[in-house]
Amino acid sequence: MKNIILLYNFINDPFCHIVIRFSTKNISYKARGCLLSILPYREDSNPQTREFLARVVDVLLDFIQQILEFKMPEEMQKMLDLNLPEDPLPLKQLLEDCKTTLKHQVKTGHPHFFNQLSCGLDIISLAGEWLTAAANTNMFTYEIAPVFILMENVVWICLQPVCVPGGPSPQVPACHYSVKSCASVGGLGTDYCIAVPSDERGRMITSELERLVRYHRDRGNVPFFVNATSGTTVLGAFDPLMEIADICQKYDMWMHVDAAWGGGLLFSKKADSVTWNPHKLMGTLLQCSTVHFKYEGILLSCNAMSAEYLFMTDKIYDPRFDTGDKVIQCGRHNDIFKLWLQWRGKGTSGFERLMDRLMELSEYMVRRIKEQSDKFHLILEPEMVNVSFWYLPKQLRGLPHDSNKEIKLGKVCAKLKGRMMQAGTIMVGYQPDDRRPNFFRNIISSAAVTEKDVDFLLSEMDRLGHDIVVD
Ligand SMILES: *Cc1c(COP(=O)(O)O)cnc(C)c1O
Repeated sequence: MKNIILLYNFINDPFCHIVIRFSTKNISYKARGCLLSILPYREDSNPQTREFLARVVDVLLDFIQQILEFKMPEEMQKMLDLNLPEDPLPLKQLLEDCKTTLKHQVKTGHPHFFNQLSCGLDIISLAGEWLTAAANTNMFTYEIAPVFILMENVVWICLQPVCVPGGPSPQVPACHYSVKSCASVGGLGTDYCIAVPSDERGRMITSELERLVRYHRDRGNVPFFVNATSGTTVLGAFDPLMEIADICQKYDMWMHVDAAWGGGLLFSKKADSVTWNPHKLMGTLLQCSTVHFKYEGILLSCNAMSAEYLFMTDKIYDPRFDTGDKVIQCGRHNDIFKLWLQWRGKGTSGFERLMDRLMELSEYMVRRIKEQSDKFHLILEPEMVNVSFWYLPKQLRGLPHDSNKEIKLGKVCAKLKGRMMQAGTIMVGYQPDDRRPNFFRNIISSAAVTEKDVDFLLSEMDRLGHDIVVD
């Protein structure tokens, strides 16, 4: 009798992958994955569909409780089974796969993750992303994404918007590397992408811009595009937009503002176009990158291919609601819903408070660094939430600061970062720039961070790094 009850439970559990044989009647029940198809929108829709998703949600809920963890690639490869099988695996195994995947994923939403411009995990935006995935639609025509297309119009009503993955546009940088890559992809060639020197704080020197424009015009070239940056990726510097705008007007050049990072803080009406990534400072889930143009219709006039099977002009609704012909790609992911939902949940004032809070925390960090100037060296007063600094192990404390010491501090970065990753307790990024060797760049762009986390970050760096020795 006991056996029969057990068996009953197994049969009712599609997540059980044990093959059970009911020996007395010689019936075998195989609960193997695809034999139990889980499908939506059907009257006979399996209760398993609901149950499977409910269990996936459990995995997700567990995920947002966990902490940082790091494994080397070789070790990770050994721990995981990533093989693609010939035969279907049972749902139970897929649930295990989901768990394992998230278990070993870096928790970018953890308040001790300061590594990237996009950190944090906005829960409302997360819910939006889940729903977006469930809706699973393309964004090229109104007919297949009516609500989402209207949402895009609402969120950017005055700015003529579309969400496009993959950043800003070409020419003349003191800026993000994507500008150079655009020059390459756009067919200009990277040699025609001219870097304008920046000052010690990373801001474009406008006299240099003008000098370079004249220099190239004198040689018969036609400078036509200037990329200014509001919030550079490493230092968080803001280029002088007004002065750059005047130069652009004088020489008839397009002015683009790359505010991918700093856009949460600033919009300029002077520019011809602006990029802004809500997935960075605003904490919208990845990815959510936008580009805005001043001129009505410009995207269509550049990009329209008028594919007959998508963009028929005799549809029953106004074809201007079909956004697909504004962009160069065909399929476009819905990145609007999670932002729209998040915005509804926060209100504009909520975003304002978030920006203020992130700035406040960055100021707190700067203060703490200055208070511990034996252990930390602030490189410059930040304009944004990018805090650039060196960590000084015991070996280098109290010595005069010169270029020789900077080289050593640069070496400390790589060593300390290695220790941080091994310990798995904290993540901060480092990089060199054209003025200095490696230095740490800390980013506070997660709403979950508190003063306590900042203190933990600094004390943990010291705990892990005090005995580092470099030559
Ligand atoms: C992140 C970043 C980019 C790249 O944007 P993506 O949409 O992630 O490709 C461009 N410019 C700046 C200043 C950035 O910080």
